[in-house]
Amino acid sequence: MRYTLFHTILFMIFCMTAHDLSAQPKQSNATIHHSQLIRHVQIIDGTGSPAYEASVRITNNKISEIGSLSAKKGEQVIEGNGLLLCPGFIDTHSHHYSNLAKDPSALATANQGITTIVIGQDGESYSMDTLDNFFNHRPVAINVATYTGQTTLRELVMGENDLLREAKPEEIEKMKILLNNELEKGSLGLSTGLEYEEAFYSSREEVMSLANVAAKQHARYMSHIRSEDITLGEAIDEIIEIGRKTHMPVQISHLKISMKDKWKQSDKILEKLDKARNEGIDITADVYPYAHWNATLKVLFPKRDYTDLTSARFAVDQLFDANESVLVNYAPIPSYKGKTLSMIAEERKEEPAVTLMNLIKIASDFKKNNPTFSHTIEAITAKSMDDQDINRFMKWPHTNICSDGIGGGHPRGYGTYPRFLGKYIRKEQLMNLETAIHKMTQLAAEHVGIKNRGVIAVGNYADLVLFNPDTVIDNATFENSKALSTGIEMVWINGQLIYKNNKSTGKYPGMLIKR
Ligand SMILES: [Zn+2]
Repeated sequence: MRYTLFHTILFMIFCMTAHDLSAQPKQSNATIHHSQLIRHVQIIDGTGSPAYEASVRITNNKISEIGSLSAKKGEQVIEGNGLLLCPGFIDTHSHHYSNLAKDPSALATANQGITTIVIGQDGESYSMDTLDNFFNHRPVAINVATYTGQTTLRELVMGENDLLREAKPEEIEKMKILLNNELEKGSLGLSTGLEYEEAFYSSREEVMSLANVAAKQHARYMSHIRSEDITLGEAIDEIIEIGRKTHMPVQISHLKISMKDKWKQSDKILEKLDKARNEGIDITADVYPYAHWNATLKVLFPKRDYTDLTSARFAVDQLFDANESVLVNYAPIPSYKGKTLSMIAEERKEEPAVTLMNLIKIASDFKKNNPTFSHTIEAITAKSMDDQDINRFMKWPHTNICSDGIGGGHPRGYGTYPRFLGKYIRKEQLMNLETAIHKMTQLAAEHVGIKNRGVIAVGNYADLVLFNPDTVIDNATFENSKALSTGIEMVWINGQLIYKNNKSTGKYPGMLIKR
């Protein structure tokens, strides 16, 4: 997900008016309503412990009682009919925020049982003041927490059109101040998107200087690492080194191997991560359950040599499957949207590698000629991973599940969590259900530093999902990316029912979660 000049200007305006904004009244979270009793449910509490039968009482926005409970007079009773109740899913790598203004009911996430999204990933973020202001004026159905992105800091300090270089020492100092302000306002930590060219040219020292600021504030580091293909090993070494030197928790975003010759090496990578953990480094990861990623075409050129035919051929051979990779956005030639790279190559009567280079050239000319264009210019959903690697990464005890989704395009935007539960757990039995839920709730909360959520326990926020483990499955596909999933029966956020019978209830109890 890339942001634009428009967003940067917004960010700057909010930075400049930070003082005025912080004086605004905060939204009240303590909306008084009747207590609710959810009964006849199997509880999987998020800790990994076995399921048990009990009832749960919600009072206001919190869980107030768990056990064998009878309804109080006048209390709203929800019949669970033996279905599973678990904590709402916490999506540690989400791009869904960009759709919330259009759809405050957050259907893309609600239909999969997600109750909190963690944004600001891949190095691109909104300021805490921007988010505060949004929440003060636009109630939404989902909780949001954010990291602060290195690329966004670079854009603010170095200028959006001058990023293909290392930052100067005085620029790094400015970024450190901006980052520190954001952390003080409740950002969860520093995020980077080092594979994208806007951050790719930053030195390890630049990243480490910023990481030190986050560590001093007892925050965290989350990274779309510098390479997921040709220099994957070095990229992992870089994040391990950040964890080693700063002593703060570090997380690899959407861990994957996107290069054919390196497929099946997931064991080796996990060995390296375990070794780092044994050394005392708090390194973790998140993973989404798909063999396709979604990003700019430019990441297919790991050496950023977009006009080199040899590199283009290497990409077609090693980095993605042109027959199964679809352009999900292409502003310069809208008719290409929805077609595979092979189909477009055939249409243009070119070899796929040449088409790949041409598409990047056309998109970059389009950007030059339309400097105010504020939407995504190009994006590809590319098949590039091996199923066995995905499974191994998901099973690693220190991996939580994420979507990396947005509302549409890649089906993960609507289907990640039901897919994990239906395909990987019920059908393929990759792990038991309690462990699977743990990876979507408590473990996710711990990995991003969110408190009082992710476990069904008295005193925690009532973020809950009621689902049917026998039917739960995703229906979103590449052709129909917004199809709602099956089996997610009800979703509560901060004690309010926000989703039922495949529909939003119209309630908007979402909160901005701060560190
Ligand atoms: Zn990413």
